[in-house]
Amino acid sequence: MLGAIGRAPRHLFVDEALQERAYEDRPLPIGHGQTISHPSTVALMTEALEIDRTSRVLEVGTGSGYQSAVLAGLCANVYSIERIAPLAARARRLLDELGHYNVAIQVGDGTIGWKAEAPFDAVVVTAAGPRPPAPLFAQLRAGGRLVVPLGDEQSQALVRYRLTGDGDVEEEILGDCRFVKLVGRYGFSH
Ligand code: SAH
Repeated sequence: MLGAIGRAPRHLFVDEALQERAYEDRPLPIGHGQTISHPSTVALMTEALEIDRTSRVLEVGTGSGYQSAVLAGLCANVYSIERIAPLAARARRLLDELGHYNVAIQVGDGTIGWKAEAPFDAVVVTAAGPRPPAPLFAQLRAGGRLVVPLGDEQSQALVRYRLTGDGDVEEEILGDCRFVKLVGRYGFSH
């Protein structure tokens, strides 16, 4: 997993003026009021997904495409949804340049998921919502994991849900975190 972090050239995913700071372990602005996560946060979330070469992964919040690039190197297919069209377009261009053709990107509200490509082995939400979006559970296969930051601007926790074989959901708190807002039908309203 650390290999995939090492191979993703983070400097390409931030604005040119910030490129020399791209390898500091801190979030950086990517435009439109959004940020690229800490590399350590990307590592934690990626590990929490428990994916392998055969996994199909849904990402909500493409942003710069950095986390998508890390996931692309570790699993079979990444389906990523971004609500801000210019961010999705820039991520698409970069991922193509890097040869990550196993990443599909859609512009829209990721809180409703990507029904046509479900079920997923794992779902990662890279923006913080008030509660886990219900449609994302419905799009997980049995045994699947949903990793999502929950909370408001003051305090957030990274949470992992696991769908058990008999349809129950297990919840684990993985730690404190800080993300931009998840805005959508099953997120915040603005
Ligand atoms: N994974 C990204 C992190 C970007 S920040 C990276 O590696 O760069 C989170 C992103 O989630 C932002 O780009 C924001 O626009 C997006 N977002 C917020 N709410 C969303 C929603 N409902 N659907 C899709 N994207 C959303």
